[in-house]
Amino acid sequence: MASHIVGYPRMGPKRELKFALESFWDGKSSAEELKQVAANLRLSIWKQMADAGIQHIPSNTFSYYDQVLDTTAMLGAVPDRYKWTGGEIGFDIYFSMARGNASVPAMEMTKWFDTNYHFIVPELGPEVKFSYASHKAVDEYNEAKALGVNTVPVLVGPVSYLLLSKPAKGVEKSFSLLSLIDKILPVYKEVVAELKASGATWIQFDEPTLVKDLDAHQLQAFNYAYAELESTLSGLNVLVETYFADVPAEAYKTLTSLKAVTAYGFDFVRGTKTLDLIKQGFPSGKLLFAGVVDGRNIWVNNLESSLNTLQALGDIVGKEKVVVSTSCSLLHTAVDLVNETKLDQEIKSWLAFAAQKIVEVNALAKAFSGQKDEAYFSSNAAALASRKSSPRVTNEAVQKAAAALKGSDHRRATNVSSRLDAQQKKLNLPILPTTTIGSFPQTADLRRVRREFKANKISEEDYIHFIKEEINNVVKIQEELDIDVLVHGEPERNDMVEYFGEQLSGFAFTANGWVQSYGSRCVKPPIIYGDVSRPKPMTVFWSSTAQSLTKRPMKGMLTGPVTILNWSFVRDDQPRFETCYQIALAIKDEVEDLERAGITVIQIDEAALREGLPLRKSEEAFYLNWAVHSFRITNCGVQDTTQIHTHMCYSNFNDIIHSIIDMDADVITIENSRSDEKLLSVFREGVKYGAGIGPGVYDIHSPRIPPTEEIADRINKMLAVLESNILWVNPDCGLKTRKYTEVKPALTNLVAAAKLIRNQL
Ligand code: GLN
Ligand code: ZN
Repeated sequence: MASHIVGYPRMGPKRELKFALESFWDGKSSAEELKQVAANLRLSIWKQMADAGIQHIPSNTFSYYDQVLDTTAMLGAVPDRYKWTGGEIGFDIYFSMARGNASVPAMEMTKWFDTNYHFIVPELGPEVKFSYASHKAVDEYNEAKALGVNTVPVLVGPVSYLLLSKPAKGVEKSFSLLSLIDKILPVYKEVVAELKASGATWIQFDEPTLVKDLDAHQLQAFNYAYAELESTLSGLNVLVETYFADVPAEAYKTLTSLKAVTAYGFDFVRGTKTLDLIKQGFPSGKLLFAGVVDGRNIWVNNLESSLNTLQALGDIVGKEKVVVSTSCSLLHTAVDLVNETKLDQEIKSWLAFAAQKIVEVNALAKAFSGQKDEAYFSSNAAALASRKSSPRVTNEAVQKAAAALKGSDHRRATNVSSRLDAQQKKLNLPILPTTTIGSFPQTADLRRVRREFKANKISEEDYIHFIKEEINNVVKIQEELDIDVLVHGEPERNDMVEYFGEQLSGFAFTANGWVQSYGSRCVKPPIIYGDVSRPKPMTVFWSSTAQSLTKRPMKGMLTGPVTILNWSFVRDDQPRFETCYQIALAIKDEVEDLERAGITVIQIDEAALREGLPLRKSEEAFYLNWAVHSFRITNCGVQDTTQIHTHMCYSNFNDIIHSIIDMDADVITIENSRSDEKLLSVFREGVKYGAGIGPGVYDIHSPRIPPTEEIADRINKMLAVLESNILWVNPDCGLKTRKYTEVKPALTNLVAAAKLIRNQL
């Protein structure tokens, strides 16, 4: 019985690629050394899959940076500013597009569907001359073949490539990117022909945009493109792979009618309606790649239940037509559990990272064909049973409290304008109050001390002393700068989610569970395995210490439930919203403890609220409803005089503005670094906004120090659409990645600009 893997992580089990890339970029190692590390990683991955018994092993899912950028290179679609002069695209042009160079900025990067992976957005226009400029797909196919593995070369499909692009600068917004299909297909044909000539028998086109809400014109592009490719593809087995959700009914019809295609890949994990679609009809004679092993999470598969799904599919399309696969590329999960030597054995038995998922796929394929590995299946059943019954997973009290939340609403008793009045009486802030988002620069010393404390190399007493000193400095700096609402600087935190996860029950942490975020950057999401509760206060000590050092209001600083959820691997044995409600209750306790300790301004960051937005419009309302509800739960119990802030790391919230208003925070600070236009247009269009709002006036992602006049100018622009009594003045985001030499002059200018405008009002 056949098995297949959609794609595999590139970084390596110990982030070998990350270190090789960064050393190359720093000029510390050669291109040859980087290529060698990459080749070794590919070799070990192919070997691993072959040894596990996988039949359809992917190639070209490796990338030095990003697979969409690889496609841009393949098509020779290099924006003019990189001054490419033709020929095969090498590291210089490739990495300039990815990261910019001394004279030219990088191409834009954006999130890959609803994952935390970011791709490089192609910039296209009518003038782009496409040509076959990177032979990477063929080279990797040949490389694997030479090692004895006949792989399935994977390409980003031509229609998804265009749908994920944006019009280049200067090109009219109305330009139809899909009109470029005739220009890119000739390159695709060349690639396919070359793969065929090299001996490929399969090819995989990833067309994940098919799971989104596409209109008839966009769907038509699939008909057109694959009909155009038909003669070139003939003789090959052609797999079109979709993932991250089910394919909407219309798109399913289009897809399954493509003549050139011989196999279809569907997500049976997130695609909750996929099975129903198949029941309604599947083209006879074609193969069904059934993605039953979750590529987005770290839990062991429920093998019996997957086997049932496979059997149901076999009954519909014919057993020999079903190929067992992953729900999507394993790029979005951690690499190998083998390296988790410190993880507790019981929890470890519940987990499967990419390397383990390969084994699961193979075991399912074998079981499906009647060669069930009974021992493997029963140990899987035992792991699932232990997870289900473990007292570490279930906390009755938490379950009850969270269940009681559903159905009812949670809001503060008074409306925002009267709350703001009550708060102003207490806080007595000037007009256009200034504040920062939370973190202050994290020096190497600070990181070292935190590390040493964690490793028990310095005493708690010394640690507290050091952090207090750091807070004291941050407070002094802010007082000298004359900032109105202070922060303690977050010196005790390594990461805004990890810090809370480590103190909450129900969370586990890995040593090497890294997932690529973009380029060489990886994140290590906590694992939420059980009911979440807060054994004791998490931030009260540091916040009250900080408050005791100043007469000015000191913001308590918390991460919100939705952000903690969206930046973690979440349990799959209950709906996400239930886990979110549990976190919300834990944060609520913290909010109330802070209030009791005399903290009058509390910021609850929801940096990642927008990230959780589902891929399909029809599911947005449900998500936004529980996400916003979770946020409100955290602070519905505070007094009118306690000011609740929230912070968000994106400016394109035009489409969710009503949900943001519904969060009912007293003040919201938002990223707004690159343009004021996007954000302000919402208010220009007449959205009524009565709460405090601080659109960032200083781009903390850049080392540049914004001059006073520039900040003043931005404040003035905002005052044209927002009332002066609700506007706050603050940077875009936390300052932790910046240096003090940048932060001090920038904040000096920020305060000066606020004062300048105050005097004019
Ligand atoms: N309070 C956090 C900080 O300042 C917020 C970070 C974020 O929004 N990503 O670091
Ligand atoms: Zn932010």
